[in-house]
Amino acid sequence: IPALTIENLSKSYDNGFQALKGISLSVQQGDFFALLGPNGAGKSTTIGIICSLVSKSGGKVVVHGVDIDEDFPAAKKFIGIVPQEFNFNVFEKVEDIVINQAGYYGLPADIARERTEKYLKELGLWDKRDVASRMLSGGMKRRLMIARALVHEPRLLILDEPTAGVDIEMRRSMWDFLRKINAAGTTIILTTHYLEEAEALCRNIAIINHGNIVENSSVRDLVRRL
Ligand code: ADP
Ligand code: ADP
Repeated sequence: IPALTIENLSKSYDNGFQALKGISLSVQQGDFFALLGPNGAGKSTTIGIICSLVSKSGGKVVVHGVDIDEDFPAAKKFIGIVPQEFNFNVFEKVEDIVINQAGYYGLPADIARERTEKYLKELGLWDKRDVASRMLSGGMKRRLMIARALVHEPRLLILDEPTAGVDIEMRRSMWDFLRKINAAGTTIILTTHYLEEAEALCRNIAIINHGNIVENSSVRDLVRRL
């Protein structure tokens, strides 16, 4: 079964603006998938719907065989989400942010601590564990969001513009980290407006523009045709 299937997904916001006009796509388990498109194309809307932060107007989203309308709590366990905007309690300590997320997924306290240490170490944040999140640099905040998204060890990691506004060195180390977890078996979907990023990282790609999927192929085929 695919990691993610989207069928005929549409979204009209309350002001009547149609952000998604019936998009369909499928992402296989183990894939590294790019949703590429310019600002305003509908990328964040799509991700918001997958993780139930945004209501949909029509269509279907299925995560590892689970329809999010039928059993969102079950679907949620499969998904780790790295939002574009930093959305922590800025006074909360780094370690507590990750531990509390583990609690939210129902992990026992000992496992929550173990995983928190593991992912904070992997992301180079362990020595910042007692610091309030507002004290972190931009790149560190981004990495904290990744640690938080991984603590329940989701099969599917979704990142919304993970490298927007980060410097080149940070971008490279983030790419390496994402390649590593994909190689270890985690399916990754990222949104980006850099073709270069999709080319460097991803196997398959969908291009979204004005709420429509205008291209969906392997990155290799796409680049060959350009
Ligand atoms: P992307 O992530 O590709 O930049 P978004 O999904 O954020 O695109 O937005 C798609 C379109 O929907 C944009 O034109 C945006 O202005 C519009 N939009 C986003 N959120 C809302 C909202 N709450 N109300 C009305 N329009 C919105
Ligand atoms: P700033 O935002 O102040 O530039 P960063 O938080 O981006 O600082 O980066 C601080 C250091 O952590 C850099 O040397 C960077 O290479 C390193 N780093 C960045 N990402 C990772 C990662 N995923 N794992 C381990 N170290 C990382």
